[in-house]
Amino acid sequence: MTKSKIIVAIDGYSSCGKSTIAKALAKYAGYTYVDTGAMYRAVALYALRNNLQSSLFNLQSSISNIEISFALQPDGTQHTILNGEDVESQIRTLEVGNMASQISPIREVREFLVAQQQAMGKNKGIVMDGRDIGTVVFPNAELKLFLTASPEVRAQRRYDELVGKGEHPVFAEVLADVNDRDYRDTHRAESPLRQADDAVVIDNSNLTPDEQMKKIIDIFNSKI
Ligand code: C5P
Repeated sequence: MTKSKIIVAIDGYSSCGKSTIAKALAKYAGYTYVDTGAMYRAVALYALRNNLQSSLFNLQSSISNIEISFALQPDGTQHTILNGEDVESQIRTLEVGNMASQISPIREVREFLVAQQQAMGKNKGIVMDGRDIGTVVFPNAELKLFLTASPEVRAQRRYDELVGKGEHPVFAEVLADVNDRDYRDTHRAESPLRQADDAVVIDNSNLTPDEQMKKIIDIFNSKI
């Protein structure tokens, strides 16, 4: 019997390992993975490059000039494409992450990206991660996961990731950034980050990646 495909919505705070687990689950299930944070980051990069960050009105009116897609690489990873240019490494900096959380409250930006995300999920068989996937993008998703971990654990992970990329972050600044971003993501008027009522909550502060993966695969298999 072929199993029916479902939509898996994964939401949670920044740097709590959403994308790692979402990618691994998509691979396990043979589903498409969509990193919606990368889409907000691509809009942020566009705003920074075009000096639109100081004027929300300019960004709102330029939104239709932005085209975002994903390109599958030979090693199985996905790169984010902004207007035909591979911007995968440029969107992963602290500066762009911060700008993403500043432009993400703009209603026009959200409507523009949410419509594309909903279209990507119309045939199901998708694992999508972000902040509003289980609440706004796919409120009827068959499986919703909400990941969380303490700010210190998340800051340490982000710090290690930046060091791994050859950057020289200051831990206190990374922690302050995590806290600021959490505050902005949970307090904005448009689609604030919140746990869907029917989401399964996973605090991974004290879970190894393998323990977390096993838990999530068990939950996934109980849904299909
Ligand atoms: O997940 P990531 O850190 O790449 O996301 C960058 C920023 O994009 C977040 O801090 C958040 O403000 C915004 N975002 C969002 N809704 C999503 C995904 C990301 O508002 N679905």
